[in-house]
Amino acid sequence: MTNLPLSSVEDRLYILRTRWEHYVADGRFEQFIEFAVAVNSLAEHFNRLRLPGLVRLCEGLENAVLARLGDQSKHPVSEADILALQRQIDTLLGSVTTSRPPVVERRAEEPATTPDIDWIKPRSVWLIAAPEKHEMSDALARQLQFFGFSICHTPWGGALPQGDMPLAVLFVPAGNEAQPEEFSFIAAVREACPASQLFYLGVQSVIDPIVALMHAGIDVTILAEEQSATVLNRMLDLVQINEQEKYRVLVVEDSRVAVALIQRTLAEHGIDSHAINDPGTLLEVLESYRPDLILMDMYMPRFNGVEATRVLRQMADYQSLPIVYLSGESDVGMQVEALRLGGDQFLIKPFNPVLLAAVVKTKIERFRETMRSTRLDGLTGLLNHTAAKARLQTMVAQTAEHGTLTVAMIDIDHFKSINDTYGHPVGDQVIRGLAWLLKGRLRSSDLIGRYGGEEFLIGLSDVTPEQARRVIDRIRSDFAALPHAHPGGALYASFSSGIASFPMLDTAASLTEAADGALLQAKRLGRNRVERAVPQ
Ligand code: GH3
Ligand code: MG
Ligand code: MG
Ligand code: MG
Repeated sequence: MTNLPLSSVEDRLYILRTRWEHYVADGRFEQFIEFAVAVNSLAEHFNRLRLPGLVRLCEGLENAVLARLGDQSKHPVSEADILALQRQIDTLLGSVTTSRPPVVERRAEEPATTPDIDWIKPRSVWLIAAPEKHEMSDALARQLQFFGFSICHTPWGGALPQGDMPLAVLFVPAGNEAQPEEFSFIAAVREACPASQLFYLGVQSVIDPIVALMHAGIDVTILAEEQSATVLNRMLDLVQINEQEKYRVLVVEDSRVAVALIQRTLAEHGIDSHAINDPGTLLEVLESYRPDLILMDMYMPRFNGVEATRVLRQMADYQSLPIVYLSGESDVGMQVEALRLGGDQFLIKPFNPVLLAAVVKTKIERFRETMRSTRLDGLTGLLNHTAAKARLQTMVAQTAEHGTLTVAMIDIDHFKSINDTYGHPVGDQVIRGLAWLLKGRLRSSDLIGRYGGEEFLIGLSDVTPEQARRVIDRIRSDFAALPHAHPGGALYASFSSGIASFPMLDTAASLTEAADGALLQAKRLGRNRVERAVPQ
């Protein structure tokens, strides 16, 4: 798992570099503007990823560029200006390369009970704590480990770990007032980890010292009385943002030349794409590739784009999928007709790459936003009941004859009494805790849904039923040991789970029903356990 969605960063860096090279070669004002736009787009991208270190570097470059923008008469800029900008570009490129996450990384010590596959997504965090605070920082480290972070303990003021950059660095200082010598240490960490989020725990609510910490390079300061719950929240947000998937576009187009041009434009904008030249395979590809948008050619052999669109609009799954026509057709009447029959927009070939990318991005952003609000549960961010069921159906349909798929139903034990004893908000926090644990421990290809109030539906493919059982059981025992904070201290909760596997059962409904039956059995047998459905 990567910390940075690399290719889209790399695409932007590539554009920035080539535009700069063009300007250095020709020295034209327009090229300089294009280069400025590329710098700005990179800064915005880092901003979206919440990578303040890189945003700062980018903004430094942006300011330097703006200072030299002037007008036509100022270009090409002087040799000295070229050199100065080149240095800033090199620094920026260097920082991005050093903040590149490892391709594969495994947990340092693997307990004997770990499943035989690399299940846990490691996200490394450096914990830099003063010795006086070891109790508090150890507790925090344990909590973070529960959620799948790997912790690297680093002595305060000591040498920094070598190698790959962490997702975040947490400073836990001795006192509640930042000391002068701390600032240079923080600045050194900032320089070593430009892309990481730097947290400083335990400030007082006084503005001057907080601003001073931010100047030194801290991104987030956390009040002394808040601490661990806040840190956890922020870290999990960070993970979610970093793991947002790339935009996916399906190109339906019979001309290879057009496909090559379109795919190049999309790639330049960090958009993933897949092309088919025969609309006959459209439905299968939609299932497997799950695009956010279709770019549809108008004229193709066998049937045309409008016909293909009409078919899709009759299917519930694709009613709101954005479809943009891309065609040489310039007859307005024809275009209107194509839109009336289910298309969202009409672009003319040869297309303007900037316009194409802008249309694709805005349509996808809106589509994803609607998807999020209709498919995701507000409290946990997991798939809601309807979406989870639909996803399970797709997973079952995609499981080949000899494939594997295990469904697990999870239900928190005695949840009503947690609500009754500690109140509804604390109950909500327990639900969120379990959701986070599941998100942290399962793979992005797994199904995780909030099926009901305190009930979750899980789907795991490509692992044997026994491996799946071990994974769920490990999460069960970790959840039971996870302290949930409440005003009076900490409480512990547990869950029961029932699991059922393909091919013993081969429909989504029968798998869910059998898992539910096994869950009931787990409750009967005393709760806090995982039971497997037995064949009838
Ligand atoms: P069991 O071990 O048999 O599962 O017992 P239980 O108390 O967990 O089971 P029951 O189904 O009786 O209670 C579930 C409770 O969950 C009832 C409901 O008020 C509560 N609940 C449902 N949704 C939410 C929610 O979103 N937040 C909170 N705090 N409580 C919820
Ligand atoms: Mg064609
Ligand atoms: Mg229940
Ligand atoms: Mg329950």
